Amino acid sequence: MPEIDPPSRILMGPGPSNVPPRVYRALMMPTVGHMDPTYFKTMDQVQSLLREAFVTKNELTIAISGTGMSGMETSLANLLETGDEIVICNGGVFSGRMPEIARRYGANVREVKIPWGRATKPEEVAAALKEKPAKVVALVHGETSTGVLQTNIKEIAKICHDAGAILLVDTVASLGGTDFQTDAWDVDVVYSGTQKCLGVPPGLAPITFGKRAEEILAKRKTKVTSWYFDLTLIRDYWNEKRVYHHTGPINMTNALHAGLSLIQEEGLSNRVARHAKMAKALHAGLEAMGLKLFVQNAAERCPTLTTVLAPEGCDEVLTRKTLLEQHNLEIGGGLGDLKGKAWRVGLMGEGARPNHVLLFLSAVGGILKKQGCKIHAGAGVEAAAAIING
Ligand SMILES: *Cc1c(COP(=O)(O)O)cnc(C)c1O
Repeated sequence: MPEIDPPSRILMGPGPSNVPPRVYRALMMPTVGHMDPTYFKTMDQVQSLLREAFVTKNELTIAISGTGMSGMETSLANLLETGDEIVICNGGVFSGRMPEIARRYGANVREVKIPWGRATKPEEVAAALKEKPAKVVALVHGETSTGVLQTNIKEIAKICHDAGAILLVDTVASLGGTDFQTDAWDVDVVYSGTQKCLGVPPGLAPITFGKRAEEILAKRKTKVTSWYFDLTLIRDYWNEKRVYHHTGPINMTNALHAGLSLIQEEGLSNRVARHAKMAKALHAGLEAMGLKLFVQNAAERCPTLTTVLAPEGCDEVLTRKTLLEQHNLEIGGGLGDLKGKAWRVGLMGEGARPNHVLLFLSAVGGILKKQGCKIHAGAGVEAAAAIING
């Protein structure tokens, strides 16, 4: 069999994002044993780097073996027992997966249905908890299917705690790309994924459990239904007990170490500012071309993922195909009701750079013009460059 030869794409979809050379080098480091003292040292450092990324002092801060979805699964599996009440703010594909998973763990699910394209309002959470108390409230910080950023998390956390519930937040598409303050906002459980704004290939799900969530774990009447994702077992491999549970994904842990070190060196706030500036440039460029963004309220646009409506007269699928074939550039298509009607453009990690923004605007402008769309093809680059250079 000949060796495979994947191309080096420019990744501007909803994830994965481009991987920096230092992270690739970490993947190539020698595989040691999962009980090797040097690996334990790496695990300890990864935990400390993860606490910086989550901005938390939480003891139970580790990386689950699996992609972002394993973070969702671990959170729900460990927090919920049969008959528990959970309120899920469902406003997109990812928050839309939570009810199904929670039900599989025996929970009574109540959904706060949020129209696609806007964030959950704090009063909607308050109303749901007033109607009936719940053990857990869950929502998504950066909803990758719509491009909505959930604002007011601190306010929502307070509403939850006043009503005796804990708050679980999905930051798979936002951690490392937008501001997220686990401790300052008093969020109880947060999980993420490596391949979006953390700039590491897919395969791990960072997760953090605060005091209230640890208490829920300690007070469980029944064992966690999933053995593989049982945090009470996994924890004893990450802490000083070092009890084998499953073989740590050694090389991926090394890669996460490198990715998180790069974030530390850049500085989390600088990195967040870089993503915000590139998103501002992208949005200005798209609007200058005459294209419309799906999320109406600018304050609720997620900097790491932009949903842009495909203009009249264009071929949505052909546009993406041409971007890939002629420009080596990947973006995502719309999901659900937006299928065939929108594009999802990611600015995650290494993707949030001027060259990515300018190339995308120039390429998509040319393609749409050729398809006969009435857009101002050249205006996009000019408007974005003014922000980038300004
Ligand atoms: C990508 C994503 C997930 C799923 O992560 P996988 O790595 O594909 O398992 C979950 N939530 C959000 C918000 C995402 O963007």
